[in-house]
Amino acid sequence: MKEREDAVYDTLSRALLAGALAPGAPLRETALAEVFGVSRERIRKILLRLGTNRLIEMIPNRGAFVAAPSLEQARSIYDARRILEGGIVAHLAQNAGAEALRRLGEHMEREQAALAEGDRATSVRLSADFHMILAEATGNTFILQQMQELVSRTSMLVAMYEAPHSAQCACDEHRDIFTSLLKGDGGGAARAMRSHLSLVETRLRPGAAAPSQDVVGVLLRMWSGQRAAQSTDEGR
Ligand SMILES: [Zn+2]
Repeated sequence: MKEREDAVYDTLSRALLAGALAPGAPLRETALAEVFGVSRERIRKILLRLGTNRLIEMIPNRGAFVAAPSLEQARSIYDARRILEGGIVAHLAQNAGAEALRRLGEHMEREQAALAEGDRATSVRLSADFHMILAEATGNTFILQQMQELVSRTSMLVAMYEAPHSAQCACDEHRDIFTSLLKGDGGGAARAMRSHLSLVETRLRPGAAAPSQDVVGVLLRMWSGQRAAQSTDEGR
């Protein structure tokens, strides 16, 4: 049953990160329990997890809603990230170990592959992971906590406001940061990071995604698609 819970979480987070669900649309426990064929208690647990990761908003006594971050909020989120992450990469240019650099190198390849496959939800997730790997490489829990919050909030902004083709530039921009880190160039890495985050911010556009109000319809399609793919795999 834990497996099904993870599969439901996965489908919901993919739908949210693909910008497929309308911002502010309600996520009703009863309807979701029916779509996924699990109990309401289980749906409640999954919604709590999505809320912790800032993909949805939990409002006491009212329920769960698709997160609806505004473009005004985006500005202060990206300001915070430029300050924090400029510092993180400047620090890492001097202090990153071989293991951290190897991990980043592998990650760059995964990002490239997802982009080549045109897998938008995975691309959005992997772009976020790049920044989390950098935060983890500092080995500092407080930095990691701040970054978790900021990156989760940004993922929904990107899902909702970034035009589909623009992930391409992000991948090259990550490579610029990585190259400066390999050279041990702290100033260059900080500049590359700040300019990357500014570019991501300028790529946000109202109306970039085409979300649906029909939450149940979207989730039903995704869920049955995933089930079908799984049974084909099992049949092999
Ligand atoms: Zn990035």
